[in-house]
Amino acid sequence: MDHADIVIVGTGHGGAQAAIALRQHGFTGSIAMIGRESEPPYERPPLSKEYLAGEKPFERIYLRPPQFWADKDIALRLRTSVVAVDPQMHEIVLSDESRMGYGKLIWAAGGDPRRLSCPGADLAGVHSVRNKADVDRMIAELEAGAKRAVVVGGGYIGLEAAAVLRKLGCEVTVVEALPRVLARVAGEELSRFYEDEHRQQGVEVLLDATVDRIEGDGRKVTGVGLEGGAVVPADLVVVGIGIVPSVGPLIGAGAAGANGVDVDEFCRTSIDDIYAIGDCAAHANAWAGGAVIRLESVQNANDMANTAAKSICGDPQPYKAVPWFWSNQYDLRLQTVGLSLDHDETVLRGDPGERKFSIVYLKEGRVIALDCVNATKDYAQGRRVVEAGIKPDREALADTEISLKALL
Ligand code: FAD
Repeated sequence: MDHADIVIVGTGHGGAQAAIALRQHGFTGSIAMIGRESEPPYERPPLSKEYLAGEKPFERIYLRPPQFWADKDIALRLRTSVVAVDPQMHEIVLSDESRMGYGKLIWAAGGDPRRLSCPGADLAGVHSVRNKADVDRMIAELEAGAKRAVVVGGGYIGLEAAAVLRKLGCEVTVVEALPRVLARVAGEELSRFYEDEHRQQGVEVLLDATVDRIEGDGRKVTGVGLEGGAVVPADLVVVGIGIVPSVGPLIGAGAAGANGVDVDEFCRTSIDDIYAIGDCAAHANAWAGGAVIRLESVQNANDMANTAAKSICGDPQPYKAVPWFWSNQYDLRLQTVGLSLDHDETVLRGDPGERKFSIVYLKEGRVIALDCVNATKDYAQGRRVVEAGIKPDREALADTEISLKALL
């Protein structure tokens, strides 16, 4: 039976960074990474951006050159799923039914795209955007002439896909069940700005619109039926309605968790010698007032990977990194820092009409987050403002002549 001192499940952002960080921190034992995708670790964000747009070939989105893993003596086992965990024996069961022993296990399995549960959801032409294979299927259909696209879900991934599809010349409709796009992640002003932007770019944005069924011709999708009876014609449907954390085998082994798997400040699960990181790890987040949340971002995956690696290497440091995220749509580069959901006030810096502004989110007078659109300086300085948790004068905060740094 194979054995590795550290077995990492998942070859995405978190898994790859965990392996890199272990070696950086001087770990000399054996490391194996197991992942069900076919490719060595690659960046996921370009999938809904430059890769879908055909602006970046796949070779340019590897997290490290493919040879890197062997050079660092990190065994990479691809096209293999972990289907069960046996904590007593310190073993995992793989999809080929073989077993593998571990000293410590790092679970970095991310999430599976949430699927529509309505009739027609499995028709050809209905796509998720989670991995290279998903996007390659979309690209093939676009190349075969798909022109009418419906994007279900107005979150970041859906809106990014909508922007690219529009740029590629498709007719695009975004169908969002809530009264505004980005409702889960941003304040109303930002939502309205992005709705307007997409409309100006020629995208039809339908709000408060719920998908009732996907219609097909027996072979592939022909339209999206909405509650109320309307049908939006479609050759291609992109579903971006969130993920379901991939934690089945861990929960099956007895790990605590509900929405994801619970971890402590060192990314340890409730099972000895098993860590969990990234999209699937539910943790008490200092920037959310200690609420238990999952974050779906490259920052969180990387920083949790570093936390787990340090803990394993005998230098435990609690996880408290400031959340940050970015999204590219058209010529708009959004950068966010902090978590805005709990805010009770916003201050606008700059002019949305000029496509360069920031929305500053406050709670009880304290800055807790910023959404910066084409405002990289605000983003860089805003991070320090969020970290410091200052209570600035509102007028000064709104004045773009005054740098955020000066408010510290
Ligand atoms: P992943 O990177 O998803 O890696 C998990 C891996 O585990 C996958 O390869 C999966 O196949 C594998 N796996 C799952 N179950 C098993 C199993 N049982 N056995 C073996 N392998 C398994 N974040 C940003 O910060 N900015 C962005 O602009 C941004 N854009 C994004 C665009 C897209 C299209 C997507 C999908 C995500 C985007 N994200 C972005 C989010 C970011 O990519 C994720 O938060 C990040 O990849 C999470 O890393 P992870 O390691 O937790 O999971």
